[in-house]
Amino acid sequence: MAEPQEFTFQTEIKQLLHILSHSLYQNPEIALRELISNASDSLHKLRHIQLSEDQHRDDTPLEITLVPNSEAKILVIRDNGIGLTHDELVQNLGTIAHSGSKEFFQSIVESGRSGSAGPDLSLIGQFGVGFYSAFMLAEKVEVVTRSYRETTGWRWESDGSGRFTITPAGDTVPRGAEVRLHLKDKLDEFLDAFRLKHIVRKYSTFVPFPILLEGAILNEQKPIWVEPKSQVTDEQHTGFYQWLTHRSDEKPLWHLHLSSDSPIQFHSILYCPTTNFELMGFGEIQHGVNLCAKRILVQDDCRDLLPEYLRFLYGVVDSADLPLNVSRETLQDHRLLPKLKKVLTRKVLDHLASVAEDQPEMFVTFTKQFGAILRTGIGQDFENRERIAKLMRFHSTNGLGSDLVLPASVEERAAKRSVSLDEYIKRAAVGQQQIYYLAGSDLDAMTRHPHLEAFRKRNLEVLFLDDPVDEFALTQLRTYEEKELISIDSSDVKFPESTNPVIEPERKSAPKHFTRVIELFRGALDAKVADVRESDRLTDSPCCLVNSQGTMSSQLQKVLSNTMKGFEISKRVFEVNPHAPLVERLCDLAVNTDNDDFIRDCGQQLYTNALLLDGLIPDAEETTRRSLRFMEELSRSKSAIAT
Ligand code: ADP
Repeated sequence: MAEPQEFTFQTEIKQLLHILSHSLYQNPEIALRELISNASDSLHKLRHIQLSEDQHRDDTPLEITLVPNSEAKILVIRDNGIGLTHDELVQNLGTIAHSGSKEFFQSIVESGRSGSAGPDLSLIGQFGVGFYSAFMLAEKVEVVTRSYRETTGWRWESDGSGRFTITPAGDTVPRGAEVRLHLKDKLDEFLDAFRLKHIVRKYSTFVPFPILLEGAILNEQKPIWVEPKSQVTDEQHTGFYQWLTHRSDEKPLWHLHLSSDSPIQFHSILYCPTTNFELMGFGEIQHGVNLCAKRILVQDDCRDLLPEYLRFLYGVVDSADLPLNVSRETLQDHRLLPKLKKVLTRKVLDHLASVAEDQPEMFVTFTKQFGAILRTGIGQDFENRERIAKLMRFHSTNGLGSDLVLPASVEERAAKRSVSLDEYIKRAAVGQQQIYYLAGSDLDAMTRHPHLEAFRKRNLEVLFLDDPVDEFALTQLRTYEEKELISIDSSDVKFPESTNPVIEPERKSAPKHFTRVIELFRGALDAKVADVRESDRLTDSPCCLVNSQGTMSSQLQKVLSNTMKGFEISKRVFEVNPHAPLVERLCDLAVNTDNDDFIRDCGQQLYTNALLLDGLIPDAEETTRRSLRFMEELSRSKSAIAT
């Protein structure tokens, strides 16, 4: 007999195996699910090969068989799929190729080290390392296999400690793969037919090939998407969703079951998850939907059926207009795909609009989880941008009371992010041609922003954009229902005339010597600002910074200056409120030229304050030196004698 060849696992796999074989608190049932899922993938690949290459065709039914052996304490999972060659064994069962697995590893290895409850191992299959979950069940794993391209087979073997061996297994090995699990102590339950039946029903009902145990078929394999909508139960949906996503404890947030005969024939069910893994630090979602032709899977990870911004949906699309033996390469050019994509996208966006209308609470959850991904669609999908904009939800000044106080709890806060552009327009003032927004990174700071004053006095609603994606989206959209979307720090802001009289009568003219104060400020800030001028937008604050006509909002410039090398923030206009108490006092002092330096210093400090309120960082050394000077002067005017 030939000597076994010995190999070592890639380092990451060693670490993973260590954690898996010690994962006492994890549910070992998922290992069975992963192995059945691998068997099913292999059968699916073989079927595809048989459809396109005559020499591999035969009549044997494609199936998965479970064989428990109580005496030897071995559970066998067998398939008659494509099998593995010697090199494929080394490659596929020894290294990690999958791109998304890195993040998973990191989280798994770190939590393994810290000894915490750890990440959800049931996600393992999504990260291309499902096979190794076999070591949750077994102290030794054998894979006896023969590739459909070869006449002799191989035996792969490992005890999960860091090494594996490969030995020739001769020409009696049938085509496909047989995974032999030498079960760990106390896991005899996995030999019990009743228990196995239960596990298969729970996780693998929708596997599209028969799963046999003692001659009986355990799974349903019913393509529920071709059934009439009304006949599919919630339970079936949950089961199908869990099978598609490998998320065993989650129900879908919503589903969309579609059937159409013309212009394209197709059936589809799309599911929206309840939670977004991207928010949990797993990187970008990497999965497509299952594409079927007449109920048979053509591609399990088709990314061409939905746009990027709907990448979080799972599901199946089945069209009789697709040829069965289409390959991945030719599929990409298939003219049917863009058509399907267009229809599906429209249907999903319409469905979301009806969820927003009829199930507002669910829509809040949706927005919280997937809103940020969805809104990127405004820049990607010109045709549907208005539809997507309709689905955006914002915080706003509406309903916050005169003090603009947001609720402290995260939950209540999230629920307040509920203002749509349509709702905003409904409440807009007579003659209001613009939709006002303020962008920033901190909601509380935004509610105190000096720019808001003029809008509050006029009773004009302002949207708060606390996610840079929002502002990018609105800048790309430019208008909504013919109203210009505008940042309130822009000098292009126009107030509707109907709101002006409310404050006009109170308006006083600027105090004497105000122009001199402006002159002094201008001299002091010459290099830093585009201009210094009187403000008509402020009521309480002494000053603010305004963007010149046509430039981007401060927040957007800030984001760009952080991400784009060499991006320079453009100079802004420094506006001064002649009626703020400090400014009035400076006007009084301006008659005496001895005060010029002090007034210039005040101008510098007011500019610094305005930068800080916009979340920008002023020159630290200059600022600290100046405020020290102010404090010294002020302290000299205080008395040391108690009165
Ligand atoms: P994934 O299936 O997500 O790629 P796995 O760790 O489960 O990750 O499997 C790694 C690879 O091993 C698979 O991509 C496949 O090429 C191969 N493989 C696993 N099980 C089988 C099987 N039963 N038949 C043929 N190949 C298999």
